[in-house]
Amino acid sequence: MRSPFAFLSALLSPASGRTVSHDHDARLTHMALHDQETGLGNRLALERLAAGGEPVYVVLFGVDRFEVLRNAIGYDSMARLLTTLGQRLSSLTGRGAVARVGAGVLGLVLQAEDDDEALQLATRVCEAAQAPVILNGAPVDIALTAGIARPRVSNRNVSSPVDRASIAVDQARAAHRRAALFDAARYGDPAGNLSLISELMAALDNGEFSLNYQPKYDFRAERVTAVEALARWTHPRRGCVSPDVFVVMAEETGHIRPLTEWVIHQAIHDQAELRRAGHDLTVSVNVSGRLLSDESFADFALAAVKASGARLCFEITETAVVGNPEAALRILDRFAEAGISVSLDDYGSGLSSLTYLKQIRADELKIDKSFVLGLDDSARDALLVKSTIDLAHGLGMKVTAEGVETPTALALLRGMGCDMAQGYLIGRPVSLTALVERLGGPAHKAVSAA
Ligand code: C2E
Ligand code: MG
Ligand code: MG
Repeated sequence: MRSPFAFLSALLSPASGRTVSHDHDARLTHMALHDQETGLGNRLALERLAAGGEPVYVVLFGVDRFEVLRNAIGYDSMARLLTTLGQRLSSLTGRGAVARVGAGVLGLVLQAEDDDEALQLATRVCEAAQAPVILNGAPVDIALTAGIARPRVSNRNVSSPVDRASIAVDQARAAHRRAALFDAARYGDPAGNLSLISELMAALDNGEFSLNYQPKYDFRAERVTAVEALARWTHPRRGCVSPDVFVVMAEETGHIRPLTEWVIHQAIHDQAELRRAGHDLTVSVNVSGRLLSDESFADFALAAVKASGARLCFEITETAVVGNPEAALRILDRFAEAGISVSLDDYGSGLSSLTYLKQIRADELKIDKSFVLGLDDSARDALLVKSTIDLAHGLGMKVTAEGVETPTALALLRGMGCDMAQGYLIGRPVSLTALVERLGGPAHKAVSAA
């Protein structure tokens, strides 16, 4: 197939303007700059265009659900569909050169006055280009998502504008938008994270980790009866690393087990310290779902609890159970036998389903803070929280509401029959020393929440 974009070769070749003497050389140049399947330009061609004289936006158009569509219509038809789409994009934008930069991703460069104009243009092109493509007389529906990289903005972490635009396609999809500009802040610093991973194990040994404790207030007892242990990493150069970063990293790289074992060890030690200070509190530890299929982790936890007589609660999230329900349920039974209570953390966020509640016999359900934070203003959130409390009680579980920040939320929860409250109003996560100070001496154990 002769490429409608063959002029790219001439435009982009370093030998531009010079007569290419041999067919062979011309073919090689053509191959180097074109996608063989569709005849469109390729990634290198687009990169050269982006690096040309004019400051241009690089815009990529990703075909949504590409693999599903390709499996449905076949590879050959998909190649034809992409060629047609390339021609459409070319005529819609008035830019000749369209490149295929990934299996289901086409791209081009655009000139625009500013980011807003680039975003509007890309959105309009997406909408116009996604009319059905007719293949063998049958219409095939397509949907597109666009990602945009700004001109000449270098980014330490992603140097190629084509890569930035490609990440922007993912960012647009994640935000359920038709088009998005590359957002460096949201992308973060994956290369930096990589070095953090290698530092994580040493950090455990070097004492860079510590635990903060956040009180859980019992409405009936009218005092703090439990605390949640939350891991903190104070990195010597970077300062505080958020658990939202290092817990995910540890999970992805197989470091979550040593981290959790360290937390359990430290929590047991601190619980004994609290007892000596006159505070008999249950300590909750977050246990990542991935560990609920690891029998030897369960062996460790049971041995540690047995040896110390600690009173622990394991807060788990439902991904744990969805992944490997049989293994998780077996391990949860072993925890129950050893007197470790189990709490369903962040209930209501993610995919919480009735199947989950049917499968798991937990002692406690923690309503996700996203609902509790909305209690003051949203009748809908209040209804959801109240119904969840009733449902959990019906199933024999206690209920903790997390994210209690206002006296109004606290009063509403008490009225709804919630058992425990946790949140900034009761107390922020603090060091063990600060917690003991806050709880006061043995004679002043009752902490008023209001
Ligand atoms: P989580 O278990 O749901 O913990 C509650 C998070 O909500 C904590 O964030 C806490 O500081 C925050 N929070 C508490 N009260 C309030 C409030 O009133 N308002 C608001 N806006 N936030 C509140 P943190 O400490 O940053 O922890 C984030 C997540 O990291 C935890 O969510 C937990 O999933 C995970 N995590 C922390 N430590 C560990 C750990 O040792 N092991 C594992 N596997 N995960 C951990
Ligand atoms: Mg938790
Ligand atoms: Mg939670």
